[in-house]
Amino acid sequence: MPPIVGIDLGTTNSLVAYMKDGAPVCIPDERGRTLVPSVISVGEGGLELVGDLARGRRITAHDRTVFSVKRFMGRSLEDVRDELHLLPFGVRERGGLLQIRLLDREFTPQELSAFILRELKRRAEKHLGEEVGPAVITVPAYFNDAQRQATKAAGLIAGLKVLRIVNEPTAAALAYGLSNRDRGVVAVYDFGGGTFDISILRITDGVFHVLSTNGDTHLGGDDIDQALMDRLLPGVPEALRADACLLQALRQACERAKCDLSSAGEARVVVSMPGRAEIDLVVTRRQLEGVMRPVVERTRTACLAALKDAGLSASDVDEVLLVGGSTRIPMVRSLVAETFGCEPRCELDPDEVVALGAAVQADILAGKTRDMLLLDVTPLSLGIEGFGGVMNVLVPRNSTIPASVKEAFTTAADNQTAVVVHVLQGERELAAENRSLARFELPVDPLPSGLARVEVEFLIDADGILNVTARDLRTGRGQSVEVIPSHGLTEDEILGMVREGIEHGREDMEMRWLVEARTEADIVLNAARKAVTQARAAGVPEERLTRFTEQIGELARVRDGTDHGAIRGALKRFNAETEDLAAKIMDAAVKSALTGKSLSEA
Ligand code: ADP
Ligand code: MG
Repeated sequence: MPPIVGIDLGTTNSLVAYMKDGAPVCIPDERGRTLVPSVISVGEGGLELVGDLARGRRITAHDRTVFSVKRFMGRSLEDVRDELHLLPFGVRERGGLLQIRLLDREFTPQELSAFILRELKRRAEKHLGEEVGPAVITVPAYFNDAQRQATKAAGLIAGLKVLRIVNEPTAAALAYGLSNRDRGVVAVYDFGGGTFDISILRITDGVFHVLSTNGDTHLGGDDIDQALMDRLLPGVPEALRADACLLQALRQACERAKCDLSSAGEARVVVSMPGRAEIDLVVTRRQLEGVMRPVVERTRTACLAALKDAGLSASDVDEVLLVGGSTRIPMVRSLVAETFGCEPRCELDPDEVVALGAAVQADILAGKTRDMLLLDVTPLSLGIEGFGGVMNVLVPRNSTIPASVKEAFTTAADNQTAVVVHVLQGERELAAENRSLARFELPVDPLPSGLARVEVEFLIDADGILNVTARDLRTGRGQSVEVIPSHGLTEDEILGMVREGIEHGREDMEMRWLVEARTEADIVLNAARKAVTQARAAGVPEERLTRFTEQIGELARVRDGTDHGAIRGALKRFNAETEDLAAKIMDAAVKSALTGKSLSEA
């Protein structure tokens, strides 16, 4: 069996770990360093440099060196617009994917992250002397599905088989062996290079629940470096202050001094550029503390907000774990102790703890660690078929189990006597493209469309067994089936389905939008056709009725086309132009039919 590695794909630094003789260890390079700076640079002849080699080039080749790629994973140009001015490289969107420009080449964030993952894979293979494929990769707890999907895609591109995406705070808790506890509340304080995250977790019978997360995606060690630099700059000759290279070198010297000051009372900031500049200053820990206090204080506010969101007070927290390089700073440690009223745990290296936990999770997946409960998540989304053949997701991929979700649906046709509950698994937008798990009918009382209320409940137990119940809320009549969602699917098939979901994402969405627009048009047309008679009975003049019939014909014509935008437009126009009639005759039933999600007729 090939070793399964655990990977911390960080904004500033990344690491790879594995389980050695029952304990997780991070894998070092030839020089004993476990951290790989998350920096990629395009070198001479188009060669890609990763890690330490690339990091040095942030000064000498800043236009072809990229960092903080994690900020772009699974995001749109709109999402990252506010951050662009901070970056020396060009970013644009093409085909729904971000493209980062380095020299004359463009890369997606997934491809850039894959460079880092490939480097970690290579390092692990060299160390272990065998091929490495399966991996667990960590992401921040607040990452949404698109960001998790992008991380998984980066793994696939790098030739890894991503068995699981794990939350960073959960990994930290696993590294500290906290899953062995029956229950308890854990706060994970993660202060890295460019981001600060606080997560409050509850452990119940070995299962982790993220109660709340808070933080600041632009608050980290970099801000402390900057604050120190601002403090030292007045001591640098005016003429040198405009030199970009010198400023970068000074920034790195400030970072080194900051790190030294975590264990020493005094440090030197030295920049030596022969023939250009010579800077040699002494900084004390007290001076550093003075400039960084405002930065550190901001983490306190986020901690208090996270506690509030979790509905807890500091005294409810049983353990606080320190994660991230910046938690080595003594002042940060005392602030954490003060905020939570207890000494934080820091026995494990804060740089390594997330990767170590990922290795523990990998070991659990390999079935080697028996005394820990398996923390499972759903590998693929689960949902039911909606009217028009679309997939309605109830439990998204990667949800932790056990899980339970309820959603209410209505009927699409008048006097429907039964609805079909078609249970599906997969990432595609259309029901037919997903895997069918079960199908059953539920009788409902015949009513005008949109009035019936059918509640569908998905319950997944700790073994991954799905129980689907549908209930007519009016009569209380219900029916249920039991299915085993992943049963019969190999890991490869699951990955294939995830990949297909990514590949077909756009065309699927187009199709789904068309189906949804047509469905809405059908419902409106159906109601409108009935309304002609009602309008006549309500005394609407014959002229207006003729015009109304024409309007219906026009909507029906557009409905048969394939342009969902045109159908939406026609619907909007139709609704506006027939408002006068609707006000008179369209009853609440029709109105609710226009909005509710509905199920097919049996
Ligand atoms: P990320 O999770 O964002 O990848 P890390 O956890 O690797 O980041 O943290 C990197 C940050 O930690 C950098 O700002 C670095 O300067 C800081 N750091 C590392 N070691 C120390 C130290 N001894 N004292 C203070 N800061 C440190
Ligand atoms: Mg980190």
